[in-house]
Amino acid sequence: MAYQHHDFQGNAIALPVGKVVCIGQNYLDHIQEMQSKTAPEALFFIKPATALVPMTPSFSIPTTQGAVHNETEIAVLINAPLKNASVAEVCTAIWGYSLALDLTLREVQAQLKQLGRPWEIAKGFDGACPVAGFVPAALVTEPQQLQFALAVNGQLRQQGDARLMIRGIAQMISEMSQHFTLLPGDLVLTGTPAGVGPLQSQDTLELTLLPWLQVQTVVNT
Ligand code: ZN
Repeated sequence: MAYQHHDFQGNAIALPVGKVVCIGQNYLDHIQEMQSKTAPEALFFIKPATALVPMTPSFSIPTTQGAVHNETEIAVLINAPLKNASVAEVCTAIWGYSLALDLTLREVQAQLKQLGRPWEIAKGFDGACPVAGFVPAALVTEPQQLQFALAVNGQLRQQGDARLMIRGIAQMISEMSQHFTLLPGDLVLTGTPAGVGPLQSQDTLELTLLPWLQVQTVVNT
């Protein structure tokens, strides 16, 4: 099924489907679980538009390249061009907020890291970014207070709170726009909290973005 942006009530959004600009290492508990080294510079990377797929009713994961990990993240839909944008400019260029999975081929990524190579193929493969419907920004009065969760087969696996981000949403988008021009229809993924782990075929996932979104989906292979 071709991906198109939708709102949280299922209506299509009249924006093109663009790239996905992501931040790594934006929550301390995830940095600790990965035993990652931190740096003052932000870690940004891109997933191509071909990584985007609808979150529901199901999505597929690769089966022949080792573990595929969930990373549940607040997703931000951009609706105006942003280049070297100020935080104030960013705040007027957001269509809305949702949840996305930054699916990661964790073993492939680990091997590439060890070789000192970029990890594009571990993060940017087709289907690597399932996305739910977007809540319009006008409804989200305090985006930096959003809370979200992922349950897998009824067990809570990830809990996120935007207040705990190392870089706030508008600040990170401002910084991203110094490297990559953001265009209408692009997405920003804002980092994962702790609780990443392997997904299996037929897992049932429930993703919650309080108080607007509660979506159920199934992992296919
Ligand atoms: Zn991520």
